[in-house]
Amino acid sequence: MRLVFATNNKHKIREISELLGDNIELLSLEDVNIHCEIPEDYNTLEENAMAKARYIHKITGMDVFADDTGLEIDALNGAPGVFSARFAGEEKDFEKNIDKVLELMKDAENRKAAFRTVIALIKNEREYLFEGKVNGTILRERRGTGGFGYDPIFLPDGYTQTFAEMTLNQKNMISHRAIAFRKLKSFLLQNNSCDNKNN
Ligand code: IMP
Repeated sequence: MRLVFATNNKHKIREISELLGDNIELLSLEDVNIHCEIPEDYNTLEENAMAKARYIHKITGMDVFADDTGLEIDALNGAPGVFSARFAGEEKDFEKNIDKVLELMKDAENRKAAFRTVIALIKNEREYLFEGKVNGTILRERRGTGGFGYDPIFLPDGYTQTFAEMTLNQKNMISHRAIAFRKLKSFLLQNNSCDNKNN
């Protein structure tokens, strides 16, 4: 089965190819000769992910999926959410984003938050959404040097290490992205065997 993954991030393609396994061949945007920026200006992760998938499907006519992730903090009414990458400005600086969260939350007692990944899939002209979510707590200061983005201030529920203190493997086993992509994988494999039975 061949699918376009609507991303320019080679690291993501490699990581997700491994997760999806040999039966699913992933093509990057570069592989299908798309080099433009995909619009990502909607107000929810679901709309953003689906808009990206539709955009690429319209150009290529191929089966495609796109993902979008955000950190949703209770005390900030769900922010930064869909604006996670550019919370502190268009330069998308991870350190500035964390500083902004810590400053906004310096008096907040409720530290509950969740990382959420949404994947939008268009397969055989049908649209599907998959979600992966990890609940946790926003710390008052950074802990750990691994990972990226908001990892140093996010302590997942049930663990004593932040995402930035875990090894990449540990994080990838339990992360919001892993949960969403495992759901996509199981759907694709089920769906594929149904296709084969019908043929
Ligand atoms: P994207 O949709 O995967 O590009 O993620 C958007 C933004 O959310 C990133 O630029 C990061 O700021 C944040 N983010 C996404 N995934 C993670 C993660 O696993 N850890 C920490 N921050 C993340």
